[in-house]
Amino acid sequence: MKVICAENMGFCSGVKRALDMVLNERNAYTLGQLIHNPQVVELLEKKGIKVVNSVDEADRTLIITAHGTPKSNIEKAKKKELRIIDTTCPLVKRVHELAVEFDKKEYKIILLGDKEHQEVKGTASNAKDVTIISSDEEASKMKLDKACFLSQTTQSLEKFKEIADILKKNIPELKIFNTICDATKKRQDSAMNLAKKVDLMIIIGGYNSANTKRLKEICNKIVETKHIEKADEIDFEWFKDKKIVGLTAGASTPDQVIKRVKDRIEKY
Ligand code: SF4
Repeated sequence: MKVICAENMGFCSGVKRALDMVLNERNAYTLGQLIHNPQVVELLEKKGIKVVNSVDEADRTLIITAHGTPKSNIEKAKKKELRIIDTTCPLVKRVHELAVEFDKKEYKIILLGDKEHQEVKGTASNAKDVTIISSDEEASKMKLDKACFLSQTTQSLEKFKEIADILKKNIPELKIFNTICDATKKRQDSAMNLAKKVDLMIIIGGYNSANTKRLKEICNKIVETKHIEKADEIDFEWFKDKKIVGLTAGASTPDQVIKRVKDRIEKY
């Protein structure tokens, strides 16, 4: 089987930075998974870095993930006198700063994103007046004098532009900031280009990884697409009558995982 890899895929700078910041730590707690990838979570657990779901469960050292966290969690950790290692990606911090700036100027913040995602909750905690939206219908209900439109860093650019166009119709003073990160955009563009040239796309990444799910959505519109976390999930039945398989991976997928998948497909 011929396999073509996307030009841009796998670990982004924010994920690499977060991993580098914690690799020498022992006996620490991450608030949620540091990286949405089961193999990396397992590796960290072996080093004594455990995942907790609330600050109450943490002791001594608390690691904030690359997606950031709501301000209330930082305040709670400080009250408990925990040592905090904040790996929030600088690109996520930029979205927080915009939310703070326009909140001070009394703009409503409209945030495109998944309501349940930690990054979105973290950004939303930086402003008093925030509405999180994820669909055209929700966007068309927004009728205001002024607002600031921001995005979760891993949303699709296509969707961001579509929603910005809807918002412009009903909000005369709309400040639009495309806060989708460059790594996300490059991965989406490469995946889209590759999907047009192959018979099947395989996306590798954690099932709970927002940017991986987005890659699947994008490719699925173009060609048959499968999402897997690791090589042994590959079903050779998928390759019947196919000649070329395209491969891409989310921003939290390690190179070794990608390599194992590639090797397995090439054996078909
Ligand atoms: S996907 Fe982008 S925003 Fe998220 S951690 Fe990576 S570089 Fe930062």
